[in-house]
Amino acid sequence: MTRPRFNRILLKLSGEALMGQNQFGIDPEAVESLAREIIAARDHCPGLCLVVGGGNIFRGMAAAAKGFDRASADYMGMLATVMNAIALQGALEKLGAETRVQSAIPMASVSEPYIRRRALRHIDKGRIVLFAAGTGNPYFTTDTAAALRAAEMGCDALFKGTSVDGIYSADPKKVADAKRYETLTFSKVLSDDLKVMDASAVALCRDNNIPIVVFNVRQPGNLAEVLAGRGVATIVQ
Ligand code: UDP
Repeated sequence: MTRPRFNRILLKLSGEALMGQNQFGIDPEAVESLAREIIAARDHCPGLCLVVGGGNIFRGMAAAAKGFDRASADYMGMLATVMNAIALQGALEKLGAETRVQSAIPMASVSEPYIRRRALRHIDKGRIVLFAAGTGNPYFTTDTAAALRAAEMGCDALFKGTSVDGIYSADPKKVADAKRYETLTFSKVLSDDLKVMDASAVALCRDNNIPIVVFNVRQPGNLAEVLAGRGVATIVQ
């Protein structure tokens, strides 16, 4: 086993990671393959917790643009993240992991409420904790929830799974000589408005010295490789 570089990380997965090849919803195969990636990651990092987005089901801002009340739409978006967390929990447990879902909007029949000290204890015991319902507040995103929970859980890093293998100087699909950054500073990400995570999430990580590791979550084995210090990623610090 490779010596861990990280003892505890928070993994942020957008809802889209659960869609697979579909345009909407939850694809069981995509969820199962994510669960395998997460389990493999544990060989390199004993403490794992997750924040799952909800964009594969419902996004508050997009719904508000079509006429929904923004705060109500955001609550619907937060409920979507609970469905995703429960789907991922099921897949992880099928593969033998012990998990807990903690929801920022109390939902006693399907999850624990978010209780920081209890979540810390679960992680200490080797359970994978899935944080659902974002921050519990409208007008936020699950990126900000990820930064917040990473700080609260004392994580060494926030791993942001995307569909590209890091942060580029330009869109690599459009610009042939776009260059991938190995490392970037928080201030460069904020001043150049690089679309990594929203600005409040980046600022929260900066203020709490939590590096953001941007990596491709769609490439099998990559999360474990990056945790082992070998994979391709961009580190914002
Ligand atoms: N949301 C919210 N407060 C939060 C986190 C999320 O209101 O703290 C709502 C918001 O409407 C958002 C939706 O939940 O659009 C789904 O989250 P997000 O868009 O961050 O999911 P992702 O893009 O990561 O799939």
